[in-house]
Amino acid sequence: MSPPLLQVNDLKKHFPVKSGLFGRKSEFVYAVDGVSFEIARGETLSLVGESGCGKSTVGRAILRLFDITAGQVILDGQRIDDAHPGTMRQMRRRVQVVFQDPFSSLNPRMRVRDILAEPIRNFGLAKSAEDLEVRVTSLMDTVRLPREALNRRPHEFSGGQRQRIGIARALAAEPELIVCDEAVSALDVSVKAQIVNLLQDLQSEFGLALLFISHDLAIVEHMTHRVAVMYLGKIVEIAPRREIFAAPRHPYTRALLSAVPLPEPGAQRNPIILKGDVPSPINPPKGCRFHTRCPLVFDRCRVEEPVLRAVGTEQWVACHLEDGTVATSG
Ligand code: SF4
Repeated sequence: MSPPLLQVNDLKKHFPVKSGLFGRKSEFVYAVDGVSFEIARGETLSLVGESGCGKSTVGRAILRLFDITAGQVILDGQRIDDAHPGTMRQMRRRVQVVFQDPFSSLNPRMRVRDILAEPIRNFGLAKSAEDLEVRVTSLMDTVRLPREALNRRPHEFSGGQRQRIGIARALAAEPELIVCDEAVSALDVSVKAQIVNLLQDLQSEFGLALLFISHDLAIVEHMTHRVAVMYLGKIVEIAPRREIFAAPRHPYTRALLSAVPLPEPGAQRNPIILKGDVPSPINPPKGCRFHTRCPLVFDRCRVEEPVLRAVGTEQWVACHLEDGTVATSG
């Protein structure tokens, strides 16, 4: 069996915050607090959870947009969390990103031609000016935009078209992994489906791996191979799509899925309403981080943190109820 394309081992990212008189007291936002997973070549892993759970921070740590607090990020057997600039340059080519808002991530003064040519030039991928032109025009074909649009600027496109330009720019670097950070969240429903279909087609064509970061489980259900569910900086469940959607094991996953609409007209799930708000990541609850909102909480949950354990061949869950514990009090 070939090694995974990406390995994330016990990743932590704690952001310091100042508080108190004169901002002297230092606290930390425990944005990501011990996250591990792997992505195989050509695989889509979706990272899901509510806003503020740390999923985008995981994506940005993989892209090395900041230094991590602890852990390892390994691409194709090579650590990138502490790689020196020379190695990092090649790594950056191999891992690209598509952000939620293409308008703010595309330079409004540049023409699409230059936006697409930039990564090709930066990574030295074109052999000549003709080769550069061929690459740029074929990227437009790949993301199904007209070649005539190469001379336009980002504000002349719709939201969906701008996201296609963002995808083309990511593809220009010939990556092996694309981090899609809420890449379809800001789009209308029909445009969302078109962009998801495009991503799936590109994945088959180029053998790309995708880390699909999203809060929208309805979209994830149609396009992912596996799902990792995050809550307050930790993964609470990770499993293939079929298992997660047919038999979610963690109480938080069940609550998230209960809000996903069913495709059949008129059909409804029984919604599980969680009490309270997500606690602050500055001072996360002791024991199980979900215990302040969990409908199945019992004594042990308040003092002992559950670890991810296998509950099937490919399903892992962090809940005391999944290790044979009998809940004796609530
Ligand atoms: Fe709920 Fe306890 Fe399981 Fe946490 S460990 S999800 S509080 S039952």
